Amino acid sequence: MKINKVVVIGSGTMGSGIAAQLCNANVPVTLLDLTTEISEKARERILKSRPPLLVDKSKINNINVGNINDNFNEVGEADWIVEAVVERIDIKHNIYEKIFKERKKGSIVSSNTSSIPIKVLSEKLSNEEKKDFCITHFFNPVRYMDLLEIVKNENNDLEQINSLKNFCEKDLGKGTLICNDTPGFLGNRIGVYAMQVAMTEAFKMKLTIEEADAVFGRPMGIPKTGVFGLYDLIGIDLMADVLKSFIKELPESDDFQVVAKEIPLVKKLIETGYTGRKGKGGFYRMNKTDGKKVLEGINLETGEYSISHKFNLGSEKMDIVNLINRKDKYGEYAWSVLSKIIKYASSLVPGITDKFNDIDEAMRLGFNWSKGPFEMLKEIGVKNFFERLDNFENNKFLEDLSKSKDENFYGERQQYTDLETLGKIKPKALKLDKNNSAEIYRFNDFNIVEFTTKANALDYDSMDSLKNATDKPLIIINEAMQFSAGVNLSYTMNFADKGDFKSIEKFVKYFQETCKHLKYSKFPVVSAPSGLALGGGFEVLCQSNFVASHTNIVVGLVETMVGLIPAGGGCKEMLWRWSQTEEAKNDPDYAPLKVFDIIGYAKTATSPIEAEPLKYLRPEDKKIMSRNSLLSVSKEIIQQNKDFTPPNEVSFNLSGKKVYEKMIQMLEKLYNDKIILDHGMEVGKELAKVLSGGDTTLEHTLSEDDLYKLELDAFMKLIETEKTQDRIKHTLATGKPLVN
Ligand code: NAD
Repeated sequence: MKINKVVVIGSGTMGSGIAAQLCNANVPVTLLDLTTEISEKARERILKSRPPLLVDKSKINNINVGNINDNFNEVGEADWIVEAVVERIDIKHNIYEKIFKERKKGSIVSSNTSSIPIKVLSEKLSNEEKKDFCITHFFNPVRYMDLLEIVKNENNDLEQINSLKNFCEKDLGKGTLICNDTPGFLGNRIGVYAMQVAMTEAFKMKLTIEEADAVFGRPMGIPKTGVFGLYDLIGIDLMADVLKSFIKELPESDDFQVVAKEIPLVKKLIETGYTGRKGKGGFYRMNKTDGKKVLEGINLETGEYSISHKFNLGSEKMDIVNLINRKDKYGEYAWSVLSKIIKYASSLVPGITDKFNDIDEAMRLGFNWSKGPFEMLKEIGVKNFFERLDNFENNKFLEDLSKSKDENFYGERQQYTDLETLGKIKPKALKLDKNNSAEIYRFNDFNIVEFTTKANALDYDSMDSLKNATDKPLIIINEAMQFSAGVNLSYTMNFADKGDFKSIEKFVKYFQETCKHLKYSKFPVVSAPSGLALGGGFEVLCQSNFVASHTNIVVGLVETMVGLIPAGGGCKEMLWRWSQTEEAKNDPDYAPLKVFDIIGYAKTATSPIEAEPLKYLRPEDKKIMSRNSLLSVSKEIIQQNKDFTPPNEVSFNLSGKKVYEKMIQMLEKLYNDKIILDHGMEVGKELAKVLSGGDTTLEHTLSEDDLYKLELDAFMKLIETEKTQDRIKHTLATGKPLVN
């Protein structure tokens, strides 16, 4: 069946998120709520949302709003009706009665419930109606959380469910798992259990919240919010409600009950308004001391707050084996938490799903874990795991595995999708090389480079891998959240701190050389970004021959924020792109001034559609809703370019001093208006020098190498200044820019 029109009922957090994602996929939606005023407000909220729920504001025109009394006839025209009203069964039942009277035959009706079983939701439906009814459980925020769980009932028309799954996967871009009708389905059942174990063990083992978050975080391949940070983010009161629902729905014998018990400190936090980030704070809070904001953390024993210091575990790289083997309380904590999660997840197979693999994917898609419990078990090794595990009675999965001792029990990854994903092909591909920052794979007749650092920050090793992988067509793609947040600033600062500017220069030169090599190598290079593609990450992308971009990207040249200018070819490439416009043909200063504005303000785009008018992406770059399709689209590009010939080198005619002076005038105005300060002026001047072409005139032609040279000189000049170093240090410490 084709989904041409959707009605979403309930325009709260989830209804508006689902409607926005449908808009992004160009599917017309009608959003109905109790009153039109409420749905109108939801429409405004969508427009103002941060991070934006829409890939482009104009997409809002795909949403009509109305109310359930005057506009219910819209249901009759919809191919899919999504119910996202409050979690109250009486209200949901009433809505279904109305929907099934109005809907057209064969349309799909689904609920976004997070906790009500489908057998309860559908108990008043006829068998014929049940055929078209299911749960579609999206996660918040819908645009950014990749997981969608579909729960079937036994009467479902499977073809209908599969076509919905297909639509959600390809058009809405969701990793779609079909699961059984059990409390919390897959993601929340394991995810919330994991959070509870991490929390209760931290209490039991007397860890500080900072220590627990440092362990139950990046070293385990879990987002850096850890457990207490995540509790604050979700809302401590909301978590309490979720736990109550689990306690009610699950049998007393379920291990979830052990970790879901009310904790006095948590109860007190809720009662005193410490409900997390949306309230007065939670486990962490911001406090003002001497007019300065300071982050404080709670003492789990006394409930008192004191200044929070990030706990340094030594390494933030994901390394489960070394983590659980540590001979200190952190190793003990890690093992205790991980082994319990693995035990619990495996005890639920086949009850919650017969594909254990789907549990891992649910954790990846819904909780942004790098690996799910079963992959963690695989990483620990079956033998090692059982040598250390105390007991696992009544756990058929583990009993069988302990007998078979099959280290290769895992099998294929990402079985939920037919698409050929990076996750699926990596185990089959030949690993050609690996260093600290990237891995190179060979698959059939092309290479893949996957960056592997924190936020995929780039350094010498990342460049080395790219350079070494161009002996075949190359796809630069990754499974981690970010394509690349840019050059590794700590790496650069380590040299700067020692006064070793020669090494920085060597690195920047190598960066330029690599990017040039990507652009002009014999074989096509495709970048397939998702998430952040900033600074150096963008420079890699824009000097690739082709781009297959996910819809959820944040792209841009942001170097000026840390007192630098793009020096890996970013200025050059943007100048070239803007110099190809009609306006630039009539005005030689048009392109440099445009790029000066874009890079000077460190403008970013939050989707490919926003990126195009800035020329961060080109019209021919592919824009793809489904992250799982990035690899196959990149492969197609390579296949279509069997006779690829590298582009011709480009050249530039810039007016030098003439346009430089125009830029300086702009800077002086900003300086006088106090929008920029002394160092902002210096950074702007260096950028102006590069974009004006330096000591040149329109008659003189500059090569790409000339531009690279200008970028390098400006970069080196700035990195040697104390004020740029202050900016970098500040950003590294706080994640925020310093204005100086
Ligand atoms: P919400 O409170 O933000 O919004 C609910 C909306 O439903 C409100 O706008 C309300 O006016 C409207 N509503 C109430 N009765 C209605 C009726 N009879 N007809 C039409 N509209 C009506 O709730 P939410 O967080 O968006 O949750 C919606 C559903 O999604 C719930 O079933 C919830 O369990 C589920 N869910 C929520 C989340 C989440 O993170 N918030 C995640 C997954 C699933």
